[in-house]
Amino acid sequence: MIGLALSLQVHAGHNYYDQAIKLMESSPLIDTHVDLPQIIRSLNRSPLEAVSQINESYPGHVDIPRMREGRLGATFWSVWTPCHELVGENPGLDFNTPTSAVRDALEMVDLIQNMIDRHPDYLQYAHSSRDITEAFDAGKIACLIGMEGSHQLGNSLAVLRIFAQLGVRYLTLTHTCHSSFASSAGAGAPIKKAHHNNGLTELGRQLIHELNRVGIMVDLSHTSDETAREAILLSKAPVVWTHSGARALWDHPRNVPDKILRLIGDGPGQNKGVIQSVFYPPFIGPTDTPGANVSRVADHIEHIANIVGKQHVGIASDFDGMYASVEGLEDASKYPVLVAELLSRGWTEEDTQNVMGGNLMRVMDEVDAVKKELAAELPSTAIWEMRTDLPAVTWGGLGQAYFPLEVQSIIAEKYTRHDEL
Ligand SMILES: [Zn+2]
Repeated sequence: MIGLALSLQVHAGHNYYDQAIKLMESSPLIDTHVDLPQIIRSLNRSPLEAVSQINESYPGHVDIPRMREGRLGATFWSVWTPCHELVGENPGLDFNTPTSAVRDALEMVDLIQNMIDRHPDYLQYAHSSRDITEAFDAGKIACLIGMEGSHQLGNSLAVLRIFAQLGVRYLTLTHTCHSSFASSAGAGAPIKKAHHNNGLTELGRQLIHELNRVGIMVDLSHTSDETAREAILLSKAPVVWTHSGARALWDHPRNVPDKILRLIGDGPGQNKGVIQSVFYPPFIGPTDTPGANVSRVADHIEHIANIVGKQHVGIASDFDGMYASVEGLEDASKYPVLVAELLSRGWTEEDTQNVMGGNLMRVMDEVDAVKKELAAELPSTAIWEMRTDLPAVTWGGLGQAYFPLEVQSIIAEKYTRHDEL
């Protein structure tokens, strides 16, 4: 490992690793997908009891000492709960059977808030690009919240609005399952369609507007190609892929195909979004030996940059969300190796800083500007069309005792089918 790093990163006496460290000490590297919260939840019956432990060596790819060694500037902690089948639940074809996803997502937000609060010397909550800069200047790792999968919204835009208040900064439109909002790319093997267009539903189209309105970034990692295409066309703000590679380099449905990459850039009609290039070996390839390594990760970044431009690509590890990591980027202490790799390929310091975090911060600012533009708009009133619980006429209880008489008679008039009386 050390041999690889050295041979790649010292050319003609120039030490790219040292140059990378200097660069990372002057502007933040932002990793848009880190799954440490799920590790804490999976190892502890009472996860909050364990948040103090991340300041020591912690199982997996990430803990505070390794993040600091790796000069990580900012991280998006993932609010992720698995798609239903992993927890033995089934929302049904209409997505209406209740699941634990909303409770569990709220518990993940609580866990993240407590992780940050317990380590004020090292971690600092951030929501905007300015917050990231402030944390970075104070020598802290900026901590943002990303939410992975709209199956955690209980089919409800109201739930989305509350997560926005809790600080969620991006929403991945799907995880590996379809939702009432959008169609997923699945986990790798072909996945059965849930929606006729294999893209967004009508509620999903409302979701894009609502995300723009509340200033949450639209994340297209994990979605079907059609969901991505439709969301790009609908979104008034730049979109993001928080952890995906280039499909032209490794044919996996989680990677972005060139035809979709061509919708992103600075040209007329293009979305000004950013693709945060992932480290996950099965997306990077090759899967035989020698396997995925840091050089291949840089190949994905360069392929994406060649199509969308160097202003539209970034970095995302997926640390703690994968069973293996690529050679050279084994854990959170290794980010400088990737930065050095880009420098050794002739990337300028300015372009490298943009890939590290500048591009994403620009996108965050543009998303905030769109939120401002839409400030006068009212919230979407859309309801999942397959819901059967509204209006909530059964909430009156036995003999409708919880409802005033006037309300009872309106219900009798309006909502009771007279032919059944
Ligand atoms: Zn993911």
